[in-house]
Amino acid sequence: MQITIDEAKCCGAGQCVLVAPEVFDQRDEDGIVVLLDASPAAAQHAAVREAATICPAAAIQVRQ
Ligand code: SF4
Repeated sequence: MQITIDEAKCCGAGQCVLVAPEVFDQRDEDGIVVLLDASPAAAQHAAVREAATICPAAAIQVRQ
């Protein structure tokens, strides 16, 4: 799995952090997403896919 994020789209909703806190974080100053792990272990894949699905800005792309 390879994750990319589009900071320009992110609106700082934080849904991804709630669902997959080991993969996503948010910047303290403006809440924009920070990708902690671009190729997470298999145990994280389901949570990452859910994060990509529920992100209101469609800012998370997942390959594979
Ligand atoms: S869920 Fe989407 S919009 Fe919200 S912080 Fe994460 S990437 Fe940004």
